[in-house]
Amino acid sequence: MKNKFLKSVAGLALIASAFAQAADPYPAKTITMIVPFAAGGPTDTVARLVAQSMTTSLKQTVIVENVGGAGGTIGAARVAKAAPDGYTLFLHHIGQSTAPSLYRKLSYNAIDDFEPIGLITDVPMTFIARGDFPAKDFKELVAYVKANKSKVTYANAGVGSASHLCGMLFMSAIETELTTVPYKGTGPAMNDLLGGQVDFMCDQTTNTTSQIKGGKVKAYAVTTKTRVPSLPNIPTASEAGLPGFEVAVWHGLYAPKGTPKPVVDKVQAALQVALKDPVVKQRFADLGTEPVSAERATPEALRTFLKSEIAKWSPIIKKAGVYAD
Ligand code: ASP
Repeated sequence: MKNKFLKSVAGLALIASAFAQAADPYPAKTITMIVPFAAGGPTDTVARLVAQSMTTSLKQTVIVENVGGAGGTIGAARVAKAAPDGYTLFLHHIGQSTAPSLYRKLSYNAIDDFEPIGLITDVPMTFIARGDFPAKDFKELVAYVKANKSKVTYANAGVGSASHLCGMLFMSAIETELTTVPYKGTGPAMNDLLGGQVDFMCDQTTNTTSQIKGGKVKAYAVTTKTRVPSLPNIPTASEAGLPGFEVAVWHGLYAPKGTPKPVVDKVQAALQVALKDPVVKQRFADLGTEPVSAERATPEALRTFLKSEIAKWSPIIKKAGVYAD
């Protein structure tokens, strides 16, 4: 008798909790934002700033989980298979558009398996080297690299990462192959560069600015059309001798395909708040970047831009002849 009573009480409690969950407006629990690179790197930095602001505006904790490896494709694959309930979000960068051309086989489709939420920021890249690297300017860097070829080690975050793309374009522009050293993200790569274990890297200003300003690494050029206001003494790659060499590492926020529209709308609204957040804006400015306009922080803008970036990079990557399995 007592057992039966307890069972029906437990049953009622289950039904009540199911009801409460159904009625609970999103978000009712912690949200995980997956970053497909190691902690402490530039994508991680952008994600943590956005997640912090979203935690305040959504009134739920947004935690960042780093799922690094294979140039961002391991994290992307994880998100593609995650439950489309709004509790898994994905902050990635330009790699979402280059991986489909770089990999012979991907376990996910970069367009069809994701709900775009909005663009976040476009980050310049910088050519940097360990503090005691012999070249004092970009011209000397190119001369040194051409003379020493594969003896020069080049850190990146794996095939599909922005640092890989930048290095690939650099090597093809100067027609010289360096020895690539892949990491799970350029956070750990920077540690090795600072320790002198690797020679060279091309990475976002969101990772390199403080090391450049602190004189810990040598900086040779930025990859934007015009100089970066927070690094006014560093020439553009065009000025330094690689005309037209431009890469901006755009970042976007996604959810798994099938995430309900009201949820996507709510996250997008929180993204818009984050991009106007004075703390985010100031930190971005300190790190050489700025939030995108409100019009670009929308699902439509990200969807269209992602498709155009896939179309833009595909022939360039084919021409470079770089593929991964
Ligand atoms: N900057 C890295 C890249 O090369 C990734 C990272 O660690 O954020 O794509």
